[in-house]
Amino acid sequence: MLVDLHNHSCLSPCGSLEMSPSRLAEEAASRGIGMLALTDHNAGDNLPAFEICCRRKGIVPVFGLEVTGREEAHLLCLFGELKTAVRFGYEIYENLQSVLNNPDLMGDQIIVDEDENILGELDKHLAGGAVEYSIDELAAMVHEREGIFIPAHIDRPTFSIRSQLGFLPDGDYDAVEVMTQPCSLNGGRYFEMTGSDAHYPENVGQRAFELPLETPDFRGLVEVLKKSA
Ligand SMILES: [Zn+2]
Ligand SMILES: [Zn+2]
Repeated sequence: MLVDLHNHSCLSPCGSLEMSPSRLAEEAASRGIGMLALTDHNAGDNLPAFEICCRRKGIVPVFGLEVTGREEAHLLCLFGELKTAVRFGYEIYENLQSVLNNPDLMGDQIIVDEDENILGELDKHLAGGAVEYSIDELAAMVHEREGIFIPAHIDRPTFSIRSQLGFLPDGDYDAVEVMTQPCSLNGGRYFEMTGSDAHYPENVGQRAFELPLETPDFRGLVEVLKKSA
């Protein structure tokens, strides 16, 4: 199955306003993606719409957030249950230490429904600041909630484990997301995956990857990552 576990919507200030959950699901379906995650920065308010849009297109939804941990590295936190992810999103947003968003300077942070009706916007700037939880604390929080924890773009020059720590500490990671395979920072220790990190419709699926899932659902994803570890 073609899988893409890192994508943003119009809720992320750096995301295109065209990237509604419905546009994201539409683009993914047209590129043959069978399992798709929405991972907005530090909030999960567009996940309910995302679920409906994926179901409409026959895509398996994965409910995620890209959390900025205390070390200021980006970390993908993925869940199979919408409710769990939405609750986790509220906790993360509540904890986020950030300035107020200025939409003109920093970008809009729009909550929409499945038909692109605007429901509201978030006040705190989602792509600035960080939560007070460390990488290890976030890994534990995600696993307590039966989620998957994947440090994002670990070999990127900004907001990554490489840029913030300079090395990849041992941790309870289900995989690591890399820009270039094989990744010397990882040295083969953790399963390497790629993610599109799409902020614009044209980038959806640009770094999707094939995974042999036994069952086409979140459980199947967990199982295949366990086996690859
Ligand atoms: Zn990122
Ligand atoms: Zn991202």
